[in-house]
Amino acid sequence: MTTYTRPHESKLMPAQLIDLMTFSHEHTANITFDIKYASTDNFTGQVIYPQARAFLMHDAAQALLAVSADLHPHGFGLRVFDAYRPWHITAYFWEHFPNDHLYLADPREGSRHNRGCAIDLSLYDLKTGTEIEMPSAYDEFNEKSHLSYTGGTESQNAMRALLQTTMLAHGFSAHPHEWWHFDYAGWQNYCVLDDEFLALEAS
Ligand SMILES: [Zn+2]
Repeated sequence: MTTYTRPHESKLMPAQLIDLMTFSHEHTANITFDIKYASTDNFTGQVIYPQARAFLMHDAAQALLAVSADLHPHGFGLRVFDAYRPWHITAYFWEHFPNDHLYLADPREGSRHNRGCAIDLSLYDLKTGTEIEMPSAYDEFNEKSHLSYTGGTESQNAMRALLQTTMLAHGFSAHPHEWWHFDYAGWQNYCVLDDEFLALEAS
């Protein structure tokens, strides 16, 4: 149990969350999934999510289709690591990983992931299906993950720039410390949610 309480924002609405896996499949978009928190391959080394699922606010999901269409002529698709995240998981990260606070959301404010309006993703090669190399790994909590980091190879920097430019062209904004993280425009209008994935599916 957490010692924090979820922000109560009575003026805000819950976002309409949709199953991004089903949605992208229905639209035959070049979007693949590697849900890191459903495995031990994440900064905690623990399985955090009981299922590998990705839920996202409807308009943001629609915008991702446009992003993947723009990337297609370049030979790339999107690989999603995380989308909607229940609030108690944000609280768990904050309580148990105090050294990583620069890269974690304060549960008293909640994360944009808790609002269903943020997504973590990278690029993959449409021909080979392999993930594209970026200046850092996902959730590598150091300066290599910062947008200001210039120490990557020419190709890594160019790939990060392509991802940034294409996402920003479709209503997303960037995070200065995490090249993989994007918020969708209007996230301020949606409240912090704590629904489990299975509860979302049932609703
Ligand atoms: Zn994120």
